Amino acid sequence: MSKSRRAKGKDESGGSVFRRHLLTILIFGALIAGVLVGEFILFDPGATREALAQTTGAWERAGDLIFIRPLRLIIIPLVFVSVVVGVTAIGDPERLGLVGGATLLFYMTTMLLAVGLGLILVNTIRPGTGVEDPSQFVNVGQEQFEAARANIEAGTEGGLGGAFVNLMEQMIPTNAAAAAVEGNTLGIVVFAILTGLALVMIGEQGRPAIVVFDAVFAAMIKLVTWIIWLAPLGVFLLVSARVGQAGLSRLAGPVGVYFGTVVLGLLLHALISLPLVLWIFARVNPFGYLWAMRKPLVTAFSTASSAATLPITIEEAKVSGGCSKRAANFVLPLGATVNMDGTALYQAIAVVFLFTMYGIDLTITQQLVILITATLAAVGTAAIPSAGLVTMMIIITAVNNSIASATEAIPRLPPESIAIILGIDRILDMCRTTVNVWGDAVGARIMTRLAPDSEPAPEKPAID
Ligand code: ASP
Repeated sequence: MSKSRRAKGKDESGGSVFRRHLLTILIFGALIAGVLVGEFILFDPGATREALAQTTGAWERAGDLIFIRPLRLIIIPLVFVSVVVGVTAIGDPERLGLVGGATLLFYMTTMLLAVGLGLILVNTIRPGTGVEDPSQFVNVGQEQFEAARANIEAGTEGGLGGAFVNLMEQMIPTNAAAAAVEGNTLGIVVFAILTGLALVMIGEQGRPAIVVFDAVFAAMIKLVTWIIWLAPLGVFLLVSARVGQAGLSRLAGPVGVYFGTVVLGLLLHALISLPLVLWIFARVNPFGYLWAMRKPLVTAFSTASSAATLPITIEEAKVSGGCSKRAANFVLPLGATVNMDGTALYQAIAVVFLFTMYGIDLTITQQLVILITATLAAVGTAAIPSAGLVTMMIIITAVNNSIASATEAIPRLPPESIAIILGIDRILDMCRTTVNVWGDAVGARIMTRLAPDSEPAPEKPAID
């Protein structure tokens, strides 16, 4: 590296230290201001839901335009290029198999852990017990339910088998371009893994393409560093709109206890289970890493979309979190697509809560059905706002079916029961998405041990 280049690099990093702190302060300031403005200015306890939605609609729209749309704009190209770069950087197919297998195993295990924790909590706290007439709570979200009815009820078709087929169909799209247009990230990830692998296997011939992918990836990341400056304004607008619509002070009664149970579960998983796993497998200070990942976590909270957050997660995992390029590029897009600890935990609690509210006590077998279907449903959940609510129907259907096969006399849970939790789902979506992204980040840090950047990659040209 020449002297002048080194001097320039020093300037840039010196400048960026100040910038990084400034951005953190702005983002956290925006978060707090968003909660306060949403709760005390936008939210009106006397107003109907419709009126609240109207007041906060403009704020949400502005947040979407300013922050979410620019992020979503680059998701698909970024996922594709990032996974190709990750796969070609790992290079050796055997190593790739090892990292891929370990990543999937890690994601499935932590999701099962999250569902297990959710089930323990919901069975201990038992939100929803003793409710005489659950239908009075249904009214709360009836309008929203009607609007989303077709979508939600689509989840009832097929149950567990349907969940499997749906997952496989996502993984094997018939048209790569259509998958990209439809935002089918799982299909894109699979296609990118295969493309990366093929580029490695053709050896010399694949090198020019690998160099191009590396360059395009660097340009994408440059775009991310621009977009992230929109975060403070985006976070403020989105958080104030969502808090303003739900109203934190409205959280009372059984729905409030349900809300508290989910938040407690998410906190335990994020601050105890995942840090323990991180420390055991990577020997990394979990809270230092949590702090290093603050920008993607706040972004996840405000956008309620792991996919929209992905560009920032990849950038920060490498720049601040100490993840290798090989692990971050490959493991994070995969994680944003399949790994949803927060969603899995939330779905388990929500389903048991709704059944309890309708006076249906679930047996151990039925809870096992939840353990498995919640994990699968979370894998199949798209990384976009409210997607977990739709795939939750898969779990409800599976449990309903197992109740029906046990005895015909016991009533099933009606789909419109979901309306009970719709009113506060937006806030819970923000919380569970944050845990989803944190789970992905923990995976990337652990897989950095299996795929460090320090070893020279076989079959890969030097591009520095
Ligand atoms: N919004 C969540 C995510 O993007 C998915 C969900 O609805 O649970 O990770």
